[in-house]
Amino acid sequence: MPKVMKKIKHITIDADKCNGCRACEVICSLWHASPRYSSSNPARSRIRIVREPLRDIYLPVYAGEYTAAECTGRNTYNIDGKKYDECDFCRASCPSRDLFKEPDSGLPLKCDMCEDDPALEKPKCVEWCLADALIYEEREEEVEEGEPNPPELEVGVESLIDKHGLQKLLETIARMTKS
Ligand code: SF4
Ligand code: SF4
Repeated sequence: MPKVMKKIKHITIDADKCNGCRACEVICSLWHASPRYSSSNPARSRIRIVREPLRDIYLPVYAGEYTAAECTGRNTYNIDGKKYDECDFCRASCPSRDLFKEPDSGLPLKCDMCEDDPALEKPKCVEWCLADALIYEEREEEVEEGEPNPPELEVGVESLIDKHGLQKLLETIARMTKS
């Protein structure tokens, strides 16, 4: 398979620097509102902060891939004397929880690195993190040429089919488009 150069966008999370201010959640939801900046709702954010002040836990987690099935095994972590709950580190939009789902439609949310045209110098959450807990880098990498990732809309439709079944989805669309 032919190789191509690809720009890899990368955010390093320094959890020790996160103070749980949640500015990243606010700006992410504002940036992705339609029209842009028209509403702020951290439930629509593609980054979430696991925030447990009594346990001194502030952990930024980015929304990753959608999954149709929840995992059957779970892990807990003890790191530097702090105990993290099951799923705290998980990035998936998954049926077992409400995280990383658009609150009205239930469609999965995934971090898109604030893709825009022209491209931003850095993602919005990185720009707004005054504690420098999010560090942005770009690098070039040689990768095999392959299928691009499915667009958000495709992933969203797939998740609706998983949840409600194809027939019900088609009936709903037919009802909504009836003139
Ligand atoms: S903006 Fe930075 S410090 Fe504030 S919650 Fe997000 S990652 Fe943590
Ligand atoms: S990189 Fe952009 S899309 Fe991803 S969590 Fe940050 S603000 Fe949201």
